[in-house]
Amino acid sequence: MYRTHTCGELNLKSAGTEVTLCGWVQKTRALGGMTFVDLRDRYGITQLVFNNDTDVALCDKANKLGREFVIQVKGKVTERTSKNLNIPTGEIEITVSELNILSESEVPPFIIEDNTDGNEELRLKYRYLDIRRPQLRDRLIMRAHIVSAVHQYLDARNFIEVETPLLIKSTPEGARDFLVPSRLVHGSFYALPQSPQILKQLLMIAGMDRYYQVVRCLRDEDFRGDRQPEFSQIDCEMSYVHQEDIFETFGGMIQHIFKQVKNYELKEIPKIKYDDAMRYYGSDKPDLRFDCKIVELNGLLPASEFNVFNNAIANGGIVAGLNAKGCATYSRKQLDELGEFVKAPHRGIGGLVNIRFNEDGTVKSSADKFFNEEQLRQIGKAFDAQKGDLLLIAADKTSKVRRSLGDLRLELAKRNNWADPNAWSVLWIVDFPLFEKDEETGDITFAHHPFCSPHLDDMQYFDTDPTRVRAQTYDMVMNGNEILSGSIRIHQKDIQEKVFDKLGISAEDRDKKFGFLLNAFRYGAPPHGGCAFGLDRLAMLLAGGETIRDVIAFPKTSGGRDLMMDAPTPVDPKQLAELGIGLK
Ligand code: ASP
Repeated sequence: MYRTHTCGELNLKSAGTEVTLCGWVQKTRALGGMTFVDLRDRYGITQLVFNNDTDVALCDKANKLGREFVIQVKGKVTERTSKNLNIPTGEIEITVSELNILSESEVPPFIIEDNTDGNEELRLKYRYLDIRRPQLRDRLIMRAHIVSAVHQYLDARNFIEVETPLLIKSTPEGARDFLVPSRLVHGSFYALPQSPQILKQLLMIAGMDRYYQVVRCLRDEDFRGDRQPEFSQIDCEMSYVHQEDIFETFGGMIQHIFKQVKNYELKEIPKIKYDDAMRYYGSDKPDLRFDCKIVELNGLLPASEFNVFNNAIANGGIVAGLNAKGCATYSRKQLDELGEFVKAPHRGIGGLVNIRFNEDGTVKSSADKFFNEEQLRQIGKAFDAQKGDLLLIAADKTSKVRRSLGDLRLELAKRNNWADPNAWSVLWIVDFPLFEKDEETGDITFAHHPFCSPHLDDMQYFDTDPTRVRAQTYDMVMNGNEILSGSIRIHQKDIQEKVFDKLGISAEDRDKKFGFLLNAFRYGAPPHGGCAFGLDRLAMLLAGGETIRDVIAFPKTSGGRDLMMDAPTPVDPKQLAELGIGLK
């Protein structure tokens, strides 16, 4: 063995013992006849000391060490005179008697400490150096702890981890497939799995009963938001279950993860219906670390000549708003900014009406022309407005108003630090719709994926009013992020075919794309359901990262490039010829 100990474990208890350590040189400094070196490995930092009085040659050698040299030292654990109580090894140092340089290092392109001078692009290019920094290292370690807690929990409950193939058939699950050309059958392609959805269902039909897999999923999507072309799921499926069984099993799993990884007792996880989440929070992933519900005013408004409100209601829309508590003192500029925020093209609201309940007891509004003070106070009642509160009200189509106010709610929370960074809001969203109508084309598409079971009570609307059919689909939301989604699946061939019909998938396409699944349904399919956690996002939230790149060892940039390996890149024309591919 190269070493007897790591750089994170020695303390006063070992004082006097001879040890051998290995690691990277983080820093050297010469001070009054002594040379101090901070030696770093995955486990921590230990201070080394070289004494010029006892061994000039050794001290000279230490003075020549560069940053990130890999060294081995032998020496004695000694009590330090000036202690650093901020680190576990801070009461001791190693008085070195032998120094071996195992490998030299060029000057690294950025400082390898938490407080680094390297920008993200540079750190992605030299990711192996970035991972030496404690912050990233600790996040990867926490991620591993999460996975280990998952294995512990599921293994104890009869789940079997089964690996499913990476080269599969292209199946529509919502996103675009990555394709892999076949060399043996020119013109044919494998697809990389967007998820093992159909395969895990087939494993239920195969009788595996309880399956899970920590698995990579690949989707060739545009890089909206915080996405990676490949990401990891904790993918799970169970036979003979209702939704409640899933809530119990996977609610329990997230509680177990919290306990193991953060030593935190997560309470019972509440359920909110999709319709209510949209109505009160304008989002299917509401952050409930703070309140600020959307209040709808239809039926509560005093009669007025204010056409912005009147027309919205006459056209079947809504008037609704938020109570920004304590924001009555917002300046004109701040109010304008919020107005611009909701006017952004993807929100598309005409603007906001404000009502300010000032500390001096007066009430002022941007719609003063249409409402007298008494009427403004009447509106304020719907919001339980108090002195100091600011009401922000929008009027338009229902979905637009809800979405805009939902975003505005988050924006206000950000500006006012409403979300306690140490609090956790974990909830289930249930009763999603089975289908969605494309706002532009009017086409019906699936809301989650085409294998989700409808609520059997709603089958009566299937032909007449399909968007009214609820699905047995659920999400788990953590601090405003979706971290799990899943459903009870269809296990009957006729219902699956009915859903494909409604989605406009022709009988021919159905057989071509899903024949193997529909066939399997003919041989005895147990009722089943499951879910998948987004491991990256879960790890990001628990480890306190800002993007999922912070918890992935070798991520791509937001534009899909691997800066370290430099991918994607053109390939040799010979490789293309073998695949029967010519480039346009
Ligand atoms: N396969 C689904 C997804 O990737 C999850 C599930 O329904 O289990 O979103």
